[in-house]
Amino acid sequence: MLNFYGFTLPKLRKHFEEIGENPAKADIVFGGFYKDGKPWEHGFGEFGFAERVAEKLEREFSFELPEVVEKTEDESAAKLLLRLSDGECIETVLMRQRFGNCICVSTQVGCNMACKFCQSGLMKKRRDLTPAEIVGQALRISREFSCRIDGVSVMGIGEPFDNFENTADAVSILSEDKGLAVGRRHVTVSTCGIVPKIYEYAELPQPCSLAISLHAPDDALRSELMPINKRYPIAEIFKAAEYYTKKTRHRVALEYIMLSGVNDTDECAKTLAELIGGRDFYVNLIPYNATDSEFRKSDNERLSRFCAVLKEHGVTATKRREFGASLKGACGQLRADNLAKRE
Ligand code: SF4
Repeated sequence: MLNFYGFTLPKLRKHFEEIGENPAKADIVFGGFYKDGKPWEHGFGEFGFAERVAEKLEREFSFELPEVVEKTEDESAAKLLLRLSDGECIETVLMRQRFGNCICVSTQVGCNMACKFCQSGLMKKRRDLTPAEIVGQALRISREFSCRIDGVSVMGIGEPFDNFENTADAVSILSEDKGLAVGRRHVTVSTCGIVPKIYEYAELPQPCSLAISLHAPDDALRSELMPINKRYPIAEIFKAAEYYTKKTRHRVALEYIMLSGVNDTDECAKTLAELIGGRDFYVNLIPYNATDSEFRKSDNERLSRFCAVLKEHGVTATKRREFGASLKGACGQLRADNLAKRE
C-alpha cells in the first residue's frame, strides 16, 4: 500500500493524472487532509470522487503513522520514542519555544557519520526513513500534544543528506502551503557537511533553511570530532554554503555544540570568528547533552563568554535554550536505552 503522507503535492498530482483523475483534485485532497484536518478515517469519499474512484483510492492508500512506545515530558519539552512498521525505533522531540512549537525529527535509523560526541553515531545506520516516516513524526507529535507545529529542525537521528531524496520530499510536504504549512524559513535541514548535497539542496524548487553542524573552528579539531571532515573540509563546506546563500537568499546557521575544554576556549572563539570572516553566517551555540561519551558540557559562564567573544569579533551568535536534559535529550539516547533494554 502507498502511504499518503509520503506524497508531495506534485507527486500526488502526477499520481492522480496517471489513474485518469483530474490532477487539480490532488490540491483539494492535500488541503483537506493536512490543512482542514479532515479525518482520514472518512477516506476519500468526502472529496466528491465517483464512488468507484474513492474506493480505488482507499484500497491504494494507507494513513499509517509511527506508534508511540515511550513518552517523556517536562514543561519545556517532550520526547517520543516511536516504533516504525518494521519494529525499528526512532526519536522525535517537541520543544516549546517562545515563538511556538518546534520539533526535531530523525531521518535515518542510526547514522554512519560516527561523530564522536553523538550517541546516534555510535550506532550504525540500519536504514533510511521514508518521506512518510519523516512527515509522520510531525503528525504524531501534533496529534499526541494537540498542537500546531511552527518550526521543524531536521536534526534528529541520522544525516539528512545521506538520505537526500526522502528528506527533500519530506520538507516539501512539511512546508507546502496546502500541507502542514510550516514556513520555509522555519524548516531547517542540518547537515554535517556532505558538500555535493548542499549544492543540490540549493537547487530545489522551494529550498528550506540550512544549518551546518560545524562544532570546531579548524579542520584539525573537526576531523578529530567528525570523520566526515576528512572527506569534506571546512573550506569546501563554506564554499557550498555561500552558494546556497546566494541562490536562496537564506542565511546559513553554523551549529556549534559546546564541549568543555575541547572547543570552548576564547582562542577557539577567535579562530571561529576569523574563519567566518565577513560571510553571512550566524552561530548557534548548543549546550551539550552529556551521553556515555568522553565529553562534558561547558558551563553557562563559558558558554556566555564564548558567545561574547564571537560578538566582539562581529559574528552574530545565539545561545540555544537548554531543552530536555531530564528527558534523555541527547540525540539517540532514548533509542539507545530502548535497544539496551531489548538486548
Ligand atoms: S551528530 Fe548527526 S551526523 Fe553526526 S553521528 Fe550524530 S546523527 Fe550522525
